[in-house]
Amino acid sequence: MTSSQNTLSKASFSTMPLYLSAPDAVALVRRKGLKNCIAGIAANIQADFFRWTDFDKSARVANHSKDGVIELMPISDDMAYSFKYVNGHPKNTAIGLPTVMAFGVLADVATGAPTLVSELTLTTALRTAATSALAAKTLARPGSRVMALIGNGAQSEFQAIAFQHLMGIDTLRLFDIDPQATAKLLANLSGSRLRLKVCTSIAEAVKGADIVTTITADKACATILTADMLAPGMHINAVGGDCPGKTELAAEVLHAAKVFVEFTPQTRIEGDIQQMPAEFVVTELWEVLNGTRSGRESDAQITVFDSVGFALEDFSALRFMHDAALALGMGERLALIPQMVDPKNLFGTLLEGISHPAT
Ligand code: NAD
Repeated sequence: MTSSQNTLSKASFSTMPLYLSAPDAVALVRRKGLKNCIAGIAANIQADFFRWTDFDKSARVANHSKDGVIELMPISDDMAYSFKYVNGHPKNTAIGLPTVMAFGVLADVATGAPTLVSELTLTTALRTAATSALAAKTLARPGSRVMALIGNGAQSEFQAIAFQHLMGIDTLRLFDIDPQATAKLLANLSGSRLRLKVCTSIAEAVKGADIVTTITADKACATILTADMLAPGMHINAVGGDCPGKTELAAEVLHAAKVFVEFTPQTRIEGDIQQMPAEFVVTELWEVLNGTRSGRESDAQITVFDSVGFALEDFSALRFMHDAALALGMGERLALIPQMVDPKNLFGTLLEGISHPAT
């Protein structure tokens, strides 16, 4: 082998991951269409949940502070690894910052080389909506058409669109303690063909709903939904209770329902079931998706999806965004790792262009 062949073969292992910025992700979603992106991510999540046992899983690592939390969410199979950095700071919106901000990485397990560095704030909203709709398709009564949407902040329109297109929801009953948040949702979804009804209380919004989505942000043990608001057959998509000391459902709601979770060890710490004793029985969504365990058992049963957000959903979403960006020629290559012809000569990168050692 000649030295140039040697250089070429080494250089063919690219260490320049694709970089997908926040504006790139917006452009990608506009080009592909929001509902297609949510449906594509939902399909990836369903396929990955189906092969749940292939993944090396752990509960996320959470660093808590007075007003929020910063979390790291790693996961891998034998081909790819991903992690997400994400925060949750409900008071942020008062100072002009989002409650939730995120970015993440995909990497090649065989070499450890990063393959994608991506924004994940928008992508988190897509994957959360995709997961919620997938869970509802699996657990809610077929024919559900009316959804109460409690909490009309950053995530809410994505939930609405996901439930419209993946679940057939045609009517939303809206409530938020901040009327401006609801007004923003009304404006954003005015062309959606969803029937939008603004309600003056949670109880009014929930009345007559087949599905109730709670997606509020408050670092408190809140009781957004209480047992007196339940109706037979309701499906509850509880998304905002996702951190120790941050819940949305009264304990009686959980007692009255069959409860489904993503990854039990994480949800027992972070989900609404943090209020329940360790022996409280839950079913993991993947078990229903792959037919191992039953989902809803009757039309009258109340089902709860106690969502906290699991690393596998970000893995599935990152792969969707990576594949879409490559197919559309979007994003740019990022010089994140030093490019070296001789990988043992890291020191040499300091000498390039100068004649004496950098010390
Ligand atoms: P956001 O701050 O943009 O919106 C939250 C909305 O909830 C606000 O408009 C606020 O006024 C409203 N609210 C607060 N208390 C309320 C109450 N008692 N009744 C009605 N409305 C109330 O936040 P966001 O980005 O939309 O996120 C919403 C929640 O979802 C957060 O708690 C976040 O941590 C959580 N989340 C969960 C997942 C998951 O996978 N489970 C993913 C993303 C976000």
